[in-house]
Amino acid sequence: MNTTTSKKTKAALVTEKLNQLVGKENVFSVLEDRICYSYDGSKQKYVPDVVVRPRSTHHVSAILQLAHENEIPVYPRGAGSGLTGGAVPVKGGIVLDFTPMNHIVEIRPEDLTATVEPGVVTQTLQSEVAKYKLFYPPDPASAPFSTIGGNVAECSGGITGLKYGVTRDYVLSLQVVLADGSVIHTGRKTLKSVTGYDLTRLFVGSEGTLGVFTQITVKLLPLPEKIETLLVFFATTQDAIQSANQIILNNLLPRALEFIDKSSITCIQGYKQEIQIPDEVDALLLIDIDGRETSVKAEASLVKEIVRKNNAIRVTSAENAQERDALWEVRRAISPALYNIAPYKINEDICVPRSRILEILERIDGIHKRYPSLKVASFGHIGDGNIHVNVMYDKGDQQKALAERMIEEILSNTVEVGGTISGEHGIGNVKSAFLPLEIPPRELEIMKNIKHLLDPKGILNPGKIFLE
Ligand SMILES: Cc1cc2nc3c(=O)[nH]c(=O)nc-3n(C[C@H](O)[C@H](O)[C@H](O)COP(=O)(O)OP(=O)(O)OC[C@H]3O[C@@H](n4cnc5c(N)ncnc54)[C@H](O)[C@@H]3O)c2cc1C
Repeated sequence: MNTTTSKKTKAALVTEKLNQLVGKENVFSVLEDRICYSYDGSKQKYVPDVVVRPRSTHHVSAILQLAHENEIPVYPRGAGSGLTGGAVPVKGGIVLDFTPMNHIVEIRPEDLTATVEPGVVTQTLQSEVAKYKLFYPPDPASAPFSTIGGNVAECSGGITGLKYGVTRDYVLSLQVVLADGSVIHTGRKTLKSVTGYDLTRLFVGSEGTLGVFTQITVKLLPLPEKIETLLVFFATTQDAIQSANQIILNNLLPRALEFIDKSSITCIQGYKQEIQIPDEVDALLLIDIDGRETSVKAEASLVKEIVRKNNAIRVTSAENAQERDALWEVRRAISPALYNIAPYKINEDICVPRSRILEILERIDGIHKRYPSLKVASFGHIGDGNIHVNVMYDKGDQQKALAERMIEEILSNTVEVGGTISGEHGIGNVKSAFLPLEIPPRELEIMKNIKHLLDPKGILNPGKIFLE
């Protein structure tokens, strides 16, 4: 028998076995279906051999047992919105699509917890708990379509990171299926637990490489009564950053503290009629303040005082949902508008200590001078030091190579100022070459040993995080 025939036979046998384990209706092996699962937000394309849509922990356990016995790669997948290739099946094998496991198991207002299946869309959880006046704060911009399973695997964050933290800060307990199909439970459904090692934290952010989540219990908070939004115009970046620092130094903790640079402003200028920003404006801060009605009023006036002392040109405030939405449209317009200046972009998500933000932006300006044919636009969560640096380039291999070289310099500089190469999007396969810039050899070895301990055959999301 030649190798191609034997491979085909093995694939057919595995598909047949999968049909028996989870039902034919949950197994997809025709090419058209498989292509739908070949990419994610990183725009790479690797077609899996088969796609399985499990409906229960029992299904997931059986699939992993089969994959383990046959050494078949398994790629867990939520909505496929990841930006670093976490869900792309770089070695073929099985894609495990968690979107059908989308039940909210329970919401317990008295315990301030919710237990969900991994395929629940983040915004669905947020709106369901809001019915009980409860709040699930982690809010990636992808919340309307990304899943809680994906968020936990990437430890996603968003605009509320400064005040409320990221996904990691809300995960209390996980049901995890390990590479060999065994099922474990980490943590407790209690708000405190220090019994043994914190395995929950180990799995959060593990990008589908250590285990597969089938149930997730998260912590909830009371829903803030009111939110006020301020859009502040500055003539210089320094004034905007100085204002952000002064806000924090004055013991104020906004729900969101977003920075938008001159290049981003230029992009959105002509993008939407309703967004008009005077030419002399070089930087914007977009600030959300939340809490009880009276405290929001008091904090908002303190923030206004601080930004004015730091040379704000104009402050626009919005208290109702419609007005707030109009101000946030400025921020939302940036990503699509960036394509006005060049057809391709690499979006980095570096994070530095807030005290080093001005320094990293100045360093990026300096690097940019050596790559004049590229465009750079930076914006993001200045409150928690997480800046989205977008390097924009034109068509052609040469331009792409220049952009990649520039990115490497930006990442090295980020590490030099005490920052991290990924505050939000994870490593996947897109950034694995850069991992050693930040993680020293001994720490890398420990990480690989953990991976080997939990997945000795390397079947869970192979080709991710580490260079092989
Ligand atoms: C427009 C846009 C805006 C975005 N904004 C943000 C943002 O503000 N902040 C941010 O952090 N990210 C952001 N992202 C990135 C992305 O949405 C997040 O990483 C998100 O958490 C991915 O969720 P997903 O359900 O799409 O997961 P997928 O992309 O399908 O998978 C992501 C990773 O999770 C693993 N995984 C999925 N389900 C499971 C499971 N049940 N068990 C184990 N592993 C699993 C996958 O193997 C993969 O490694 C954005 C993406 C887009 C396209």
